[in-house]
Amino acid sequence: MSAVLDAAYDAAAAALRAAPRVVVAAHENPDGDAIGSLIGAVRGLRAAGIDAAAVRDAAELPREYRWLDDGDTSTLAPAGEGWLLLAVDCGSAARIAAPAGVRERASLVVDLDHHHDNTRFGDINIVDDGAACSAMMVRELLRRLGVELTAAIATPLYVGLVSDTGRFQYSNTDPRAFTAAAELVRHGAQPQVVFHRVYESVQASKLRLLARALDRIELRLGGRLAVTWLTRADITETGADEAATDGVIDNLRAIEGVEVAAFIREATNGTRHKVSLRSANGIVDVSRIAHTGGGGGHTRAAGFSSDLDRPQLVDLIERETESQL
Ligand code: 5GP
Ligand code: MN
Repeated sequence: MSAVLDAAYDAAAAALRAAPRVVVAAHENPDGDAIGSLIGAVRGLRAAGIDAAAVRDAAELPREYRWLDDGDTSTLAPAGEGWLLLAVDCGSAARIAAPAGVRERASLVVDLDHHHDNTRFGDINIVDDGAACSAMMVRELLRRLGVELTAAIATPLYVGLVSDTGRFQYSNTDPRAFTAAAELVRHGAQPQVVFHRVYESVQASKLRLLARALDRIELRLGGRLAVTWLTRADITETGADEAATDGVIDNLRAIEGVEVAAFIREATNGTRHKVSLRSANGIVDVSRIAHTGGGGGHTRAAGFSSDLDRPQLVDLIERETESQL
């Protein structure tokens, strides 16, 4: 660990200890790492004797992660002001998903994240782009607060690790990730239970939605770019929900010969479309494509929201992919 990172962890631990109250938040459209880090952090902070609350902006968490939330998160801003806001897994301030007023009423912001394009928006920035997931970073922060892991803390953190490593298959699956997994399992995280709850509790409506997306796959650039799309109507007609679009893109990335997978869906966040991008082999840096569209992310997983129409988005993605091949 670099001296800068080490000092950032210590500074954050000291600030958390000194704060009258801590509010934890993650990013919009939260995935397993965002939710696992959020819930693991709030439980860990409470175990350290810190007055902590966790907030989210969505009415409901994605179905496969709801079981993790034992009343730990709320869509209401806590009373008062002058809190420390701990933002986990957020690459930029704009990504923080919190009820109105939470950011404005915080007097100190700690940014804990593993995105390489993190904008360092916090007063204290713990940014480690070498970490496979934010959940492992939460674990390190809790270690510095002297927190003993329990099953209730280890389980959400393990979900974050499993989620962001693609169940220990992605390129970020390094010895640190396995060491962290071993520690979390030793303290009560149950891999089979997590697998069952997160990956084997699928609704048929989600599969019907997936079928539509798979049916529309279009290959471009000689098969190196795979694109597909879904509309709001697809979601309502199949009886699925927004969160059911999660995972669609993994199927595109798995196509032989594909370097870039792109998934375009009609958005609910005020913009017209939400775009997800994946790089199959790391040859193309999809965060650069996402930046062109106004978003960001990792080299191999990125995204953006846009008011462009679908043909315009496909053109943009094709042009930006081609420029990197
Ligand atoms: P997903 O495709 O799963 O929604 O997002 C993959 C990754 O891309 C996320 O972990 C996040 O880092 C990044 N990402 C997705 N959407 C956006 C966005 O609108 N803005 C930024 N800055 N990053 C995004
Ligand atoms: Mn993450």
